[in-house]
Amino acid sequence: MKWDHLPEWKRAVVKVGSALIAPDGKGCKTRRLLPIARFISENMEQGREVILVTSGAVAAGMSELGSEAFRRRSIPEKQALAAIGQSLLMSAWGRLFDCPCAQILLTHDDLQNRKRFVNAKNTLNELIRLKTLPIINENDSVAVDELKVGDNDNLAAHVAVLAEADLLLILSDIDGLYDKNPHQNPDARLLQVVDRIDAGIHALAGGTHRAIATGGMTTKIQAAEKATHRGIDTVIANGSKGETLEALLAGECRGTLFKRTASPLAAKKHWMLHALPCSGRILVDAGAVKALRDKGASLLPSGVLQCEGEFRHGDAVEIVGLSSLGEEVVARGLTQYGSDVLGKIKGCQTAQIADILGFVYTDVVIHRGDMILYDCVA
Ligand code: ADP
Repeated sequence: MKWDHLPEWKRAVVKVGSALIAPDGKGCKTRRLLPIARFISENMEQGREVILVTSGAVAAGMSELGSEAFRRRSIPEKQALAAIGQSLLMSAWGRLFDCPCAQILLTHDDLQNRKRFVNAKNTLNELIRLKTLPIINENDSVAVDELKVGDNDNLAAHVAVLAEADLLLILSDIDGLYDKNPHQNPDARLLQVVDRIDAGIHALAGGTHRAIATGGMTTKIQAAEKATHRGIDTVIANGSKGETLEALLAGECRGTLFKRTASPLAAKKHWMLHALPCSGRILVDAGAVKALRDKGASLLPSGVLQCEGEFRHGDAVEIVGLSSLGEEVVARGLTQYGSDVLGKIKGCQTAQIADILGFVYTDVVIHRGDMILYDCVA
């Protein structure tokens, strides 16, 4: 197979999955960690900057306590194992690097909340300036479901955005994205380049066959989408093969390259689309859809048919066009009105808002600048 060049990079987030470092699900294997550590160290020696996002805490915890400790697989059990395993995971990595390693544990809240996001970014930049290796994992021991990113592929993409990296390298135990799950289909073919992540690409992904892993290819493609939308090239490669790591070091793109989009999203739009959870839906009529798409208009109350879910001023919501053909998700934006108030002014003219509510917050439901059309996300 002939391989393309790896796009030039200066700062990368390298994500290492538990399938890779804990292949039997029982502890991190040094023989798997070592070649990856060498790959990272050599890149750092060549003047590049690396941030490591690593899974494997639960597996490390299990190796300490024995797999009986994980029989019921309840959430508190998993969180306890992560707490035990996290320090083991850090020391397993730490002894393989000459530079100091710094641990950062993140939750979804750190990425969603602008202040914490900026704070995490400053810390990361300082750690890189100090020539340390930042090692990041999700704060699994305390994060409850609503606060979780949920998997380290997506976490790594958030970190790549946070750190303004130019490469996201997802290392797994598989050579890249295949046109079908290669474990179930021996004739599966590897895709070397993905120019655009569309529904067809998402459909190629299967889950994982391992108890210890979380996402399989599904979350890796989601991660690639997040990163490429912000202008970050993403590569999925096989970190269990020494020759692949050597080829990557030599600048060969041995794996699947997801090319960064030609016109990356601005920071605010990217944050609205990928970091903020959606609190509800606003169903709008065909005229509103046309105005948003063709005229670059803001969403006015007159086009609103219905609200779904409970949301408040400032929350992210989805704008859904409703017609005789059915529903079509058109855009996402930050609403000026909560669902209770919007329920009262839906369908009315802007001039009527004051009469109905007794006050006017703003004339529009969603400002154009606070909105992103799905059509425009290449
Ligand atoms: P990690 O722990 O490294 O994140 P996972 O087990 O979660 O690894 O994901 C990698 C697995 O995804 C592969 O071993 C494979 O079983 C599965 N997979 C599902 N669909 C595909 C596909 N289309 N191409 C490649 N791998 C796939």
